[in-house]
Formats: sequence, C-alpha cells, structure tokens
Amino acid sequence: MTMPVAGPRGALVLGGGVAGIAAAFRLRDAGWSVELHEAHPWLGGRAFTLPSRAGEPPIDNGPHVILGCYDEFRWLLRRIGSEGRFARATRLTLAYRERDGRASALRLLPGPVPLTFPIALLTTRALRWRDRLRAARGLAASLFVPKDGCSLAQWLTRHRQDGAPRAVLWDPLCRAILNAEAEEVDAALLLATLKRAFGGAGRRGAILVPDAPWSAIVGEPALAGLRDEGVTVRLASRVAALEIDDGAVCAVRFADGTRRTVARDELVLSALPWHAFAQVAPGVTDAARLQGKPMLSVAFWCEHDPGLPADPLVALVDGEPFHFVCRRAGEPRERFAVISGGARGLDGVGVDAIVTRALEQLRRAFPAARLASGVHARVCKESRATLWPRPGERALRPPAGPVPGIDNLLLSGDWTDTGLPSTLEGAARSARLAVACASRA
Ligand SMILES: Cc1cc2nc3c(=O)[nH]c(=O)nc-3n(C[C@H](O)[C@H](O)[C@H](O)COP(=O)(O)OP(=O)(O)OC[C@H]3O[C@@H](n4cnc5c(N)ncnc54)[C@H](O)[C@@H]3O)c2cc1C
Repeated sequence: MTMPVAGPRGALVLGGGVAGIAAAFRLRDAGWSVELHEAHPWLGGRAFTLPSRAGEPPIDNGPHVILGCYDEFRWLLRRIGSEGRFARATRLTLAYRERDGRASALRLLPGPVPLTFPIALLTTRALRWRDRLRAARGLAASLFVPKDGCSLAQWLTRHRQDGAPRAVLWDPLCRAILNAEAEEVDAALLLATLKRAFGGAGRRGAILVPDAPWSAIVGEPALAGLRDEGVTVRLASRVAALEIDDGAVCAVRFADGTRRTVARDELVLSALPWHAFAQVAPGVTDAARLQGKPMLSVAFWCEHDPGLPADPLVALVDGEPFHFVCRRAGEPRERFAVISGGARGLDGVGVDAIVTRALEQLRRAFPAARLASGVHARVCKESRATLWPRPGERALRPPAGPVPGIDNLLLSGDWTDTGLPSTLEGAARSARLAVACASRA
C-alpha cells in the first residue's frame, strides 16, 4: 500500500458509527487531517437514541450491553469521557426466569473466572445436579476453540450440552453476543469471545449495563470530542459512490450530487456497514453476500411499578419470542425493555400484536407482575442489527485494513474480519487494526 510520507495527510472517514468515530480519533492521533462523513444527522451508528415522542422517556433503538473485556470499545469510551456511564460490575451475574415463573441466577464469586465460573455452575439452582456437571464440563471444553467450522449447535451436541445446559448457559450467551440461534452460528466465533471474557479476571466477564441513553454515551460526546480535536464532521452527508481509477479511490460522490476529489496521497477509510459498502463500491469485496440479523425490542414505561425484578438483565429461559428483559442501570422500576434477538418469528407481525405477545410472555414469566393497565410501549425493529455469523461466513469477511489493489482505501466496521462477532468491540477493534495499517505505511 502506498501512503503519504510528507505533505498533506488528508483522510476521509466514511460512516460515523463506533468504527468511524474510533478511526477518526486514531487517525487524528497519528497526525492526519480528518474529515468524517455520516449519512444521519447524528453520530453513533447502530447505537443511538430514537428521536423522542411526546410523553416518552428517552428510548434507544435497542438495548446494548457490553462485556468487561471490550478493551477497544472502552478505549473509545474513555476518549469521549463515557466510561463511567456504566453500572460498576466486577463479575458476571445473570438472572434467569423460567417459563413457569421460577427465578434463579448465575452469580460468580470474586476471583479468576476459570475458577469461579465452574463453582457458580455447580451451585446454581438454575440447573439440576446432573446438568450442573454437564455444564461445567462444557465450559471446560469451550477453552478449546474448534477449527472445523461447525455450528454452535453441533458443538453443543458433541459436548453433551443439549437440554438444560444449553437453555440456561449457552443459548443466553449466544443470543446476547451473536444475536442468533445456536444452529445458525459459527461455534468458533462465540467461543473465541467467551475465551476473552472468561479466560482471566472476573471483571473481564462482567456484563456492563449503561446508565444513560446511548446517544448520550457515544454519539453526542463523540461529536463534541472530534470537533474539539479539529476533525471536520459532516452530518447528513450520505456517500453515494466511490470512484476508483488506476488502483486508487479518486473521488467520493455524495447523495446530494456533490463530488469530492480524492488526491492520491489522501486516504479513504470506510466505516460503512456491509450493505452500504456493497452499494457504494460494488464488487470490491464480498460484502453483498453477507446477511444481517434483526433485533426487535419493546420499550415499556408504566404509570406504576409493575413489580418486575430490579436486575438489569434477566434471561428468559426457553423464552419465545422474547429472550431478555433489561433496563438501564439506576432507571426507575417503571421502565424496562424486552428483546427478541436474531429470530424472524415476529416478521410481519403488527406493532399492537407484538406488544400483546410481549405482555403475555411477561405475565407467564412474572405471574405476580402488575401489567394489566397503565402500560405504554414502543416497538423498535432493526432489520440488520448485526452480521449473521453463519458457519463459513468468515471467509467472506475482508480483513480490517487495506483493500488489495486499491492503494488508498482502508476498510473497517463490525463486519470486517477482526476475529470477533459484529459487536461494539468488533467495530472499535476494526478501527484500530485499519488505522494501524495507515500508520505503518
Ligand atoms: C438493536 C441493537 C442492539 C445491539 N446490541 C448490542 C450489544 O448489546 N452489544 C454489542 O456489542 N453490540 C450490539 N449491537 C451491535 C452494535 O451496535 C454494532 O456492532 C456496532 O454499533 C457497529 O458499529 P459500526 O461502526 O461498525 O457500524 P454502524 O454502527 O452501522 O455505523 C456505520 C455508520 O455508517 C453510516 N452510513 C451508512 N451508509 C452510509 C452512507 N452511504 N454514507 C455515509 N454514512 C453512511 C450509518 O448511518 C452509520 O452511522 C446491537 C445492534 C443493534 C442494532
């Protein structure tokens, strides 16, 4: 890759999600003059807060949580002053609710996870004795990431995890991290993430829940921080096409009809999602062959305390169609959301029917809850919330970094091959990997 060694070091970052924001900060740190173009009138990408309707509390496009081991994303949070906006959790705790309303939990003791996780599994009331031993064995097996491209479901069967261990341990982890069902995901991708989370200190495996709307955590402070550092941020600036000539991007065309010439010694870093990149640069990667997974959530706010547990995250065991109940840290008991990840079971179902199904499932799982009246709801559906990490998909994900044959183009985004699933951490990591290539050159 040919990169400038002297003279103007201009860099265009396309897309203002987590990958684009992190890349813009890192390029600035490396001495580039940075211009960022984002299609929406806000930054933050897929983690943002919906424009408020009258009478509604601030509602995110879908609840997001992070793990303590999200080092790259936490670097960005520190950079924009948001790392303190998460409840302090020093170890993994996950509350469960069975279909019949029985409550249980998995709570790790303080200490290294390889020690405390088996103890938590062997003592949890969420599993019967025999199943506890099976789950602990499965956890030990997960230290060895399979290389044969099997699905998570195949891996679980191979390691005798079907039944209760799968329902209590693996399905919630798979849905929370990969936003999909075990049958349809690459086992290696989940297990690689679990190894990072559960291979060391307890705080790395903790689930961190935000205490504020996501726009206040990422988009708004990032916009202020980037502008403070001299980055030119152009909002509502939608890229329509990259013009590529003689092995380099020579211009970027925008949806408003304008065209920005790109000098040969300038850099273009795409932080667009896969479907947008496939449109603006058709044929450059296999992005058009990648598929997304939806996520549907229903945000509730009640006129009274409905009596749901105070836990920030409750996994609904064998839950269908909703898999989790969650709430922001410190939020009043009247507010919570339910999430249905990955599955397409609610496709084509109307908003009112979705709310009805959510309430029915909540009443079954929490028989004492008061949800008969004074309950308001808003349904949020993201049709391409995350990349679908099918077995074999990795071969279609380009590495974060240079695009072979195009001298001044770098790729980033949660869909590039970072070794991680498409998450906030994957997005932030892709930015570091891509910018490292620019800096090395
Ligand atoms: C509802 C929901 C819940 C999620 N929950 C979690 C979670 O709990 N934990 C977790 O780690 N991850 C979660 N994710 C995934 C996470 O949000 C993404 O992996 C991450 O935000 C992707 O960041 P990105 O920068 O790679 O892409 P994006 O966030 O998609 O950013 C790309 C940006 O490019 C812009 N853009 C698109 N087209 C153009 C164009 N033509 N011109 C200019 N700009 C353009 C977009 O507007 C966007 O701002 C969730 C996602 C959703 C939707």
